[in-house]
Amino acid sequence: MPRVQLHDKTFEPFIPADELERSIDAVATELNRTYAGKRPLFLGVLNGAYFFAAELVKRITVECEITFVKVASYHGTQSSGQVAQLLGLNERLNGRHVVVLEDIVDTGNTMEHILALLKDHHPASIAVATMLFKPDVFKKDFPIDHVALRIPNAFVVGSGLDHDGLGRNLPGIYRIVP
Ligand code: 5GP
Repeated sequence: MPRVQLHDKTFEPFIPADELERSIDAVATELNRTYAGKRPLFLGVLNGAYFFAAELVKRITVECEITFVKVASYHGTQSSGQVAQLLGLNERLNGRHVVVLEDIVDTGNTMEHILALLKDHHPASIAVATMLFKPDVFKKDFPIDHVALRIPNAFVVGSGLDHDGLGRNLPGIYRIVP
């Protein structure tokens, strides 16, 4: 995998697609065990989580539903810490087992906001599953229940993650070259 240029930044190969897929296999195994008979509702956070959501749910063997919401929270290469409302939530969450699917959890600000909004709908349970997690940056005390891969604090793209709109289509994960 060669380096790629996206706008003004250069990115180098970091995690190959097959390694990422194996880590998603492991999350699916955990979820299949945890949610047997509970008919979970998977709630993908657009745009970034479309890839993780698709890869994950094709490995889910228990009866489940999947839907998507949108939040606008991030611009450029630094987390703004500001999040908007959840858009497009049409399902009734009352009494459901909800699993939020994220592409990446960084500071946790976005997820904290999403969880607070979801709790107002009185689900039976809420869990978080994320493709990537930056434990060195995470500042919150709620659990990130299911993590495909833990990564160091570097800006990454690929597999749904973008830099100002570019790079979501790249297979595997690429890391910014400082
Ligand atoms: P947090 O609120 O946890 O700091 O950041 C969550 C959001 O910031 C993610 O959903 C994602 O949109 C964006 N983000 C955080 N780190 C990265 C990164 O390394 N690469 C990209 N492309 N987006 C990131």
